[in-house]
Amino acid sequence: MTIKVGIPGALLYYLYYPMWRTFFNELGVQVVTSGRTTKNILDQGTREALADACVPVKLFYGHVMDIKDKVDYLYIPRVVCLNRRTVYCPKFLGLPDMIRYSIKNVPPIIDVRMDTRQGRFAVVKAYLEIGKRLGAPILSVLLAYLKAVGVLHRYNRLLRKGWSPVQAMDFLENQAGGADFDGSAKSGLKFAVLGYPYAIYDSFISVNLIDKLRKYGVKVITAENIHPALLALQKNCSLPKRLFWTFSDRALKAAHFLFNQNKIDGVLHLTAFGCGPDSLLNKLIEMEAKKHSDIPFMTLMIDEQTGEAGMTTRLEAFVDMVRRRKEALACRK
Ligand code: SF4
Repeated sequence: MTIKVGIPGALLYYLYYPMWRTFFNELGVQVVTSGRTTKNILDQGTREALADACVPVKLFYGHVMDIKDKVDYLYIPRVVCLNRRTVYCPKFLGLPDMIRYSIKNVPPIIDVRMDTRQGRFAVVKAYLEIGKRLGAPILSVLLAYLKAVGVLHRYNRLLRKGWSPVQAMDFLENQAGGADFDGSAKSGLKFAVLGYPYAIYDSFISVNLIDKLRKYGVKVITAENIHPALLALQKNCSLPKRLFWTFSDRALKAAHFLFNQNKIDGVLHLTAFGCGPDSLLNKLIEMEAKKHSDIPFMTLMIDEQTGEAGMTTRLEAFVDMVRRRKEALACRK
């Protein structure tokens, strides 16, 4: 009987799902994912998670609840560091334990540790460990890993072209979709959307932020659309050192790059209620925005109560304000 591995559709799913799916499929393992967030998933997550957890972690709980009874294993790697410089937020480090000890009847969790500070081959070793757990021969595991890395590179290339994760995943899975990814910028406006990928790309919790902007004719740029080498060259605004946490560091560098490039008409920062690192990141991005007061900036906070109507009104007002401002500036020239 085919082994089934469950991958919850939250957190690192948005950056690594195509790689993980390829790896497991190559080993003959069936992947079951919870897919897109729904109200039911969010409600389940809110019920199961600790009250003071951030919204993305609550969502993760909901996605686990959605698939836990359909699979033989859950894949929840303990991702510590993947670039030898910054570490993932402590919630990522404790994720397998949080799930194991707070949800009843979860299947065995594949919780390999990934920390590239422990050596160049730390990640390969982690994948070999997964293969061992699934009873796969070493050579097959190595070949599956190499194929998965190739898929990850293709996926990242699509993201850099401006495709959303959902479009890029659909394309890689079915070789279809993704045609209308830049919203064709009908209004001539270009906005940067900053925030953690699992918040901005989750269309339910972000209340469809990116699609809405595209519908208003706005071209959207996110940190995932910028080449990592360019981001690596950025300073962390006026900070003398980088932030500890990977996604916060990336968001701040993207803010620095996009504000200084001066080719954007507005910046939106999506922040998650209950996020510890965001309490610092918000302030730092705000300080950067103040240095570029000619670029309109707005922070949007999401939580489990975020309503579509309120978010839409704020977005429409922001887009309208930026559009009028741009027209007024053009008339003065
Ligand atoms: S960075 Fe913030 S939003 Fe992301 S998992 Fe950590 S606490 Fe939650």
